[in-house]
Amino acid sequence: MSMSLLYWILFGGVAILSYIVQASLQSKFAKYSRIGIANGMTGAEVAQKMLNDHGITNVKITHVPGQLTDNFNPTNMTLNLSDSVYGTCSVAAAAVAAHECGHAVQHAKGYAPLRLRSALVPVVSFASKAVTWVLLIGMLLIRIFPGIMLAGIILFALTALFSLVTLPVEVNASQRAVAWLQNAGITDYSNHEYACKALKAAAYTYVVGALSSLATLVYYILIFMGGRR
Ligand SMILES: [Zn+2]
Repeated sequence: MSMSLLYWILFGGVAILSYIVQASLQSKFAKYSRIGIANGMTGAEVAQKMLNDHGITNVKITHVPGQLTDNFNPTNMTLNLSDSVYGTCSVAAAAVAAHECGHAVQHAKGYAPLRLRSALVPVVSFASKAVTWVLLIGMLLIRIFPGIMLAGIILFALTALFSLVTLPVEVNASQRAVAWLQNAGITDYSNHEYACKALKAAAYTYVVGALSSLATLVYYILIFMGGRR
């Protein structure tokens, strides 16, 4: 198979998949943002209750701008909820708020994949800054100094590893969210499945992200092997 055909299969496939997954997440999120929850709680209130129920008192809930920009930041112990989550009462807002709390619970319990992911953050932030240049120079000089491209591939592999470690962390946070939403009576028989669907749609974006990293890694390895011949 020629390299250019392989390139189109790898990247065309990932790009189409990524588009479908993003579009599906946005449409599901918009739809479930219009479905209320019985107790009238906003995303911020749901998050506070989930933290309380887990005995977590050192996390501050804040409001951040944007769409789907919600995150838990363990470096300053803040749980940051976006515009459509913080002050909104909907099954989507409750699901996202509980998912981010799921990360806070992981942190509190010392969940191993989260610890590994946090340990990789400084390494990956260095690798992702350097990787483009090292790969570019490496490809230009592949016949003279193949070691440069190899170093670039190792840097890229670190970022790919990070996207793989992200998967269990995200899935586990959603599992914690879904279980708590049901047990705490935040969701009920009429809307619980929507919370599950919203979180599943979000998880697929991480799966596609990891696939895309792996496809790119394979591509660089093939260039390296081809270029040295
Ligand atoms: Zn998450």
